[in-house]
Amino acid sequence: PLPVPAADRPLVRIVIVGHVDHGKSTLIGRLLHETGGIPAQKIEQLKAMSARRGMPFEWSFLLDSLQAERDQGITIDTSQIRFQTPSRDIILIDAPGHAEFLRNMITGAAQADAALLLIDAAEGVRDQTRRHGYLLHLLGVKQVTVVVNKMDRVGFDEAAFRAIESEITAYLADLGVRASAVIPISAREGDGVSVRGERTPWYDGPTVLEALDGFEPARAPQDLALRLPVQAVYKFDDRRIVAGRIETGSLKVGEEIVFQPSGKTAVVKTIESWPVPAAGKEKALLNAGAAAAITLDREIFVERGEIVSTPASRPHAARRLRVRLFWLADEPLETGTVVIARLATSESRATVAAVHEVVDPGHLSTFESKSIGRNQVGEVELVLSRPIAADPHGLNPRTGRVALELGGRIAGGGLVISVLD
Ligand code: GDP
Repeated sequence: PLPVPAADRPLVRIVIVGHVDHGKSTLIGRLLHETGGIPAQKIEQLKAMSARRGMPFEWSFLLDSLQAERDQGITIDTSQIRFQTPSRDIILIDAPGHAEFLRNMITGAAQADAALLLIDAAEGVRDQTRRHGYLLHLLGVKQVTVVVNKMDRVGFDEAAFRAIESEITAYLADLGVRASAVIPISAREGDGVSVRGERTPWYDGPTVLEALDGFEPARAPQDLALRLPVQAVYKFDDRRIVAGRIETGSLKVGEEIVFQPSGKTAVVKTIESWPVPAAGKEKALLNAGAAAAITLDREIFVERGEIVSTPASRPHAARRLRVRLFWLADEPLETGTVVIARLATSESRATVAAVHEVVDPGHLSTFESKSIGRNQVGEVELVLSRPIAADPHGLNPRTGRVALELGGRIAGGGLVISVLD
């Protein structure tokens, strides 16, 4: 197929997850190389460097060298790797093997539309594989392709592949996730990434590149209702300027807006992009993704943490939330534990009032427990010390995710299931 021009290419944000060492960095290095994102010269340099040091070349060196360039400020985009498939622009969110990966996923820094779940053919499905699969499901990532890597380690044996395929598809099916494909590859040797693997003649499904090309982009955040979490309120002279990023929807001059949880209303008088870059940047309309600084037609006291919406579709003002969460800390989360809950730009002290439905994602068994241990999932009822604005599950991904902090660190997080009052 002819390449689609850049302007019309749908953008898909993906994550690559899986047990450490199963080959995420290698696959990414390969993908960057085979989609033309890395000059051949660069690879020659890295190969020569490895040879000088007497070690084998690793595709993951590509990522390390990109990371080094970023650290020196050479590459502009600091957190995201991009490449192109025939009809999609792919943004790879977050570096693999990143120690903070789970925390980033949970806090919503990683807003993935789709995922590749990687499994080492010789190691098979591990607990960490299941946890990552579970987390994708918990965070609502519905497009998942499974990649069985290192097929060279099992002699490209079909039976070995089929065993892993049935185990992981059964696990995902129990979660309600259908894998769009299960692909046998060798990331290191190149089979099945962008070139059909000659050593897997028994396989007739897509390559990794074809699977990526079939992922659908997320619904444009513009199409959802307006959500602008207030980051800061500035006072200049007698004017009050409300600043924040438009997460979803759009904002228009002359439109009535509501701040939640306070419920205060006003009409938008002016909108500027923020930080104000130059004169003449005033606009009548800003869309999702833009940073906005707005003035209002009346003096009202509003605060950081409130969410700007329209009267027709506002988030709930909540003092009690039911949250389905993944817990990462060593100390268990139990009735009476006090944490800091963060949702968009708001924060509140939160006390666990009840714990329900604890699940161990490694085995998918639900059990009665009053506490959620490390790497477990459960539902909790949180009582907040001050109300925050929230959208229950499914209504708006940007304002329905909560992160919980314990001792100054993100210790868990997940989705608002319901707003209790
Ligand atoms: P990550 O921790 O998931 O990012 O894994 P890496 O990409 O760093 O790979 C871990 C190790 O597995 C490295 O030594 C790779 O060279 C090796 N590896 C990756 N892909 C393959 C493969 O297809 N076949 C074999 N035999 N080894 C591989």
